[in-house]
Amino acid sequence: MSRLYAPTLKEDPAEAELASHRLLLRAGMIRREASGLYSYLPLAWRSIRKIEDIIRDEMEAIGAQEMEVPILTDGELWQQSGRWNDYGPELMRLTDRHDRSFALGPTHEETFTDLVRGELKSYRQLPVTLYQIQDKFRDERRPRFGVMRSREFIMKDLYSFDKDVEGMNESYRKMYVAYSNIFTRCGLDFRAVEADSGAIGGGHSEEFTVLAPEGESRIACCDACSYAASDEKAALRPIDAPDEAELPLEKVATPHTSTIALLAEYLKIPVEKTIKAVAYQTEDDTLILAFLRGDHEVNEIKLANAVPGARELRMADEDAIRAVGGCPGFMSPIGIKEGTHIVVDETAMRMHNAVSGANEADFHYMNVNPKRDFGAVTVADIRLVEEGDACPVCEQGHLHIGRGIEAGQIFALGTKYSEAMGATFLDEAGKAQPMQMGCYGIGVGRTMAAAIEQNHDEHGIIWPRAIAPYEVVVVAVNAKVEEQLAYAEEIYEELRAAGVDVLLDDRRERAGVKFNDCDLIGYPVRIAIGPKTIENGSIEVKVRRTGELVNFARDTYLKGVQDMLAAL
Ligand code: ATP
Ligand code: MG
Repeated sequence: MSRLYAPTLKEDPAEAELASHRLLLRAGMIRREASGLYSYLPLAWRSIRKIEDIIRDEMEAIGAQEMEVPILTDGELWQQSGRWNDYGPELMRLTDRHDRSFALGPTHEETFTDLVRGELKSYRQLPVTLYQIQDKFRDERRPRFGVMRSREFIMKDLYSFDKDVEGMNESYRKMYVAYSNIFTRCGLDFRAVEADSGAIGGGHSEEFTVLAPEGESRIACCDACSYAASDEKAALRPIDAPDEAELPLEKVATPHTSTIALLAEYLKIPVEKTIKAVAYQTEDDTLILAFLRGDHEVNEIKLANAVPGARELRMADEDAIRAVGGCPGFMSPIGIKEGTHIVVDETAMRMHNAVSGANEADFHYMNVNPKRDFGAVTVADIRLVEEGDACPVCEQGHLHIGRGIEAGQIFALGTKYSEAMGATFLDEAGKAQPMQMGCYGIGVGRTMAAAIEQNHDEHGIIWPRAIAPYEVVVVAVNAKVEEQLAYAEEIYEELRAAGVDVLLDDRRERAGVKFNDCDLIGYPVRIAIGPKTIENGSIEVKVRRTGELVNFARDTYLKGVQDMLAAL
């Protein structure tokens, strides 16, 4: 350890919002180079390597082949798949000296599809499964949380090519099992949840979410059946409003009621009787007006999916709203210029005699009956799941909201890329067919950070054994005392010879400083060699997770340590 490059910090770094980010910086494991760009220092790199080795092992077990493609990808391929435009500003684009367009790979569907098209010509050559572990680049809107959401990050990405849907589903199922094994072997508590397929596209998809209260992903899990989904995806049943006779539309003055809460209070009606509007604009400035029951929230992913061509949404400018006849704070679909994208949530569509804006400042409509009054609007489930919502799958269950970190995602892509890029093979009948693809990613750095987010206390990291930088640290309590240092070295060598992954803390620092560092860096097991050891051969062993302290004799400590490790 006296030679190890692990510059620990005494103080909490101000920029770190999450425990994992703070602890990785404090433990001298990562350093920031620029916004969203981090270096992994030696301790972190050992954890990364261990995670990668677990991944390799599980991939090998299902016959996937490791390889590597260039990080730089030809813009022409992105044009062919249609993603040069679709991917948006996250794609890091650049131009070479001959004015040709390139992008730093954010994911590699195009490259791998290009690699196999023309080579895999017959159904007899399929399936083929290829993967790499490599740096990816995404110009994230908000890089944050250190390596959890960075602009350059390590990803294992895998692509499967099958001859038919059954084959693709079989590849997907194998990968699901392999991913479950990987995260289990990393020592993580996780859930596989149904997911939106985002910019990758395609059909069925699941995310592997490491459970952590501070995680960015919200997930919804049914308390009665196995349904679990990310909040982006969680489907919701429309809620029926109690039957009522429809009353005639009426415009009423409602001064100072530009929020739903103020409106409900002013009219003395429950919020559930109001319809609210949220206005968005897409990348190309197209306006989208969303309407929901007053107490519901918009799911922006579902909303974007409901409007063809929409991807990243931002809040709309007031001018854009006024240009279609809308009045911010007082909106309804009634009287909005034709051709405007209006999306009404399924539940809002079933309301009776509701209140919504009149597209005029300080006025609302009463007795709004959407089916009668809204005209030609898009009706879709655009609501964000809430605690206690009815399960979309089973009859009796309710959804509960939890939080976590998406560490991996798997996609059954179908023929999205093979069709766009002409990756076909000849089937049994000699007919050209597009390959059925799947793609599968794991964020290696994010998995490491997620492990810390899930396993830490006020003193530092508590590594799961399988991915700890070292499993055991041997501390010479006072390294200035020749005998202690020599004894510690002897124990260190003995453990190494026994195949234990061990580090020697031979620094001439105070014992308190060294023990604090042990807790901060979070080695699963700490062995202290101090005056007592010299006196009577007693060896103190501490388990980081439980705080359990055991004193072993010289001839029993090795077995004791091995048993402790095995139990972790
Ligand atoms: P997110 O929704 O968090 O932005 P994503 O769904 O866009 O991620 P995928 O395309 O599914 O990401 O990429 C596969 C894996 O790569 C993710 O599950 C995650 O572990 C990792 N990953 C994605 N973006 C980043 C990033 N900016 N920094 C670190 N890891 C990332
Ligand atoms: Mg994902």
